[in-house]
Amino acid sequence: MARFIFITGGVVSSLGKGLSAASLGALLQSYGYSVKLRKLDPYLNVDPGTMNPIQHGEVFVTDDGAETDLDLGHYERFTDVSASKFDNITSGKIYQSIISKERKGDYLGGTVQVIPHVTDAIKDFILNLTDDVDFLLCEIGGTVGDIEALPFFEAIRQLKNELEPDSCLFMHLTLLPFIAAAGELKTKPTQHSVKELTSIGIQPDIIILRCDRDIPEEERKKISSFCNVPFSRIIPAVDVGNIYDVPMHLHQNGLDSEVLKIFHMHDNEIQPNFRKWDQISKNSNSFEDTVNITIVGKYIQLKDAYKSLDEALYHGGLINKVKVNVEWLDSELLENSDPINYLNKTDAILIPGGFGKRGSIGKINAIRFARERKIPMLGICFGMQMAVVEIAQNLLDLKDANTTEFVQTKEPVVDLMTEWKKGQLTEVRDENTNLGGTMRLGAYDAVLKKGSKVHSIYQKNVISERHRHRWEVNIKYKDALENSGVIFSDMSPDGNLPEIIELKDHPWFIGVQFHPELKSRPFDPHPIFISFILAAIEKSRLV
Ligand code: GLN
Repeated sequence: MARFIFITGGVVSSLGKGLSAASLGALLQSYGYSVKLRKLDPYLNVDPGTMNPIQHGEVFVTDDGAETDLDLGHYERFTDVSASKFDNITSGKIYQSIISKERKGDYLGGTVQVIPHVTDAIKDFILNLTDDVDFLLCEIGGTVGDIEALPFFEAIRQLKNELEPDSCLFMHLTLLPFIAAAGELKTKPTQHSVKELTSIGIQPDIIILRCDRDIPEEERKKISSFCNVPFSRIIPAVDVGNIYDVPMHLHQNGLDSEVLKIFHMHDNEIQPNFRKWDQISKNSNSFEDTVNITIVGKYIQLKDAYKSLDEALYHGGLINKVKVNVEWLDSELLENSDPINYLNKTDAILIPGGFGKRGSIGKINAIRFARERKIPMLGICFGMQMAVVEIAQNLLDLKDANTTEFVQTKEPVVDLMTEWKKGQLTEVRDENTNLGGTMRLGAYDAVLKKGSKVHSIYQKNVISERHRHRWEVNIKYKDALENSGVIFSDMSPDGNLPEIIELKDHPWFIGVQFHPELKSRPFDPHPIFISFILAAIEKSRLV
């Protein structure tokens, strides 16, 4: 039987509930337990797929094609357990299914209500497919007190009553702010947040305190007493230099042992093995060198918009023992200004995924700069599409070459795919298809070309990578592009969709139609990023 750990937050959002949940999952795995992590998002969007990344951060795509919250990326990276569409739900999705059942007549005669219909649907979602794991860790988005989150809190309150005794644990994460004028850490916001939680029937078992400095015992005692939680279960979580230090930091503050005590699992003599977490902490704090990578993007105001990318670069650096210094460059700055003003000192250029016309010209200019000056260049999804546009415009001299995503052109080198194969199935779309959830999404196989650079990078013949896009490089231009030095080094199994392109006479110029960053993990860095960082290191040694 699974044990359930619910992670809630209070005082402010963005405290790192996702990271704490992921870290606790990793710690429990160190004892040999199996874990699964889930996220309940109270907003009304059906999924985050149509949200602007500047508002909500990156959309994390699972193998089975769900567009999910970026916290699922943390879960995967920390626990190495691949998430699925059953691991993230929103109020929007729950209401959508209830309303469609109501329209079908499934509730005929009944009044459909938040309690029990919405709360039952939430409970079903939490309990689904949990028989095979020791722990389900379930995070509730937002903070306690949010109106839209109430049904979620009510559902987990009910679950504690309904499941076996001692099989649920509530962990609450709050902020302990330091007030400079008073020179004091303040416990009152935490007290209020716990009061709010208890007023809806949830008494936390553990409180995690996020703080930017060490927390004196006095403050912890105060919180213990006012919030009715034993002192040893008031766990400090002081800011650390690196996210991969978080599991050991929480362990040193007693989180895993308190969790196991609550479940009466502490005296079964399992010796935990934290070696890999110790090692990664050590490696993260002992880099030998630094490389400079410039990301030319348009959502750079919010680092969370490129969360997995930032992590994947870090992983690529870890294994190569270099610290990756990322420069975030607004692509619009390169629209009317010579790229040399911004890209002169960089060791490599990365053009990430993106949507829409804004900033595209700057990306094309950056790609041309990388191509002509032989600077390592990785184009991801939109980045690969723009690389093809750049090459077609400047090497094939097709001045009108562009993507039909935002231009009606007679040279559609990147075009809308209306039909493609997913295994045995054919997926069909057109211009009028809904925008939500209809891209080419999730894991697709592709076949690498023997003798290509990427073949030697992956060292295998068939790869599986995660996708999230509507447009594709137009196969009709394959011959012409090949004549100008482009190698189509990875294709969909039916040979219709270009998945990777590379350039012949260039040290490292690769465009990938998928998102390799989504599959990179700290203990298993993605080969593309390992190789990209290596190319940047080589470039840095040349100057
Ligand atoms: N906008 C492009 C498309 O939909 C690229 C998407 C992306 O970069 N994820 O095809």
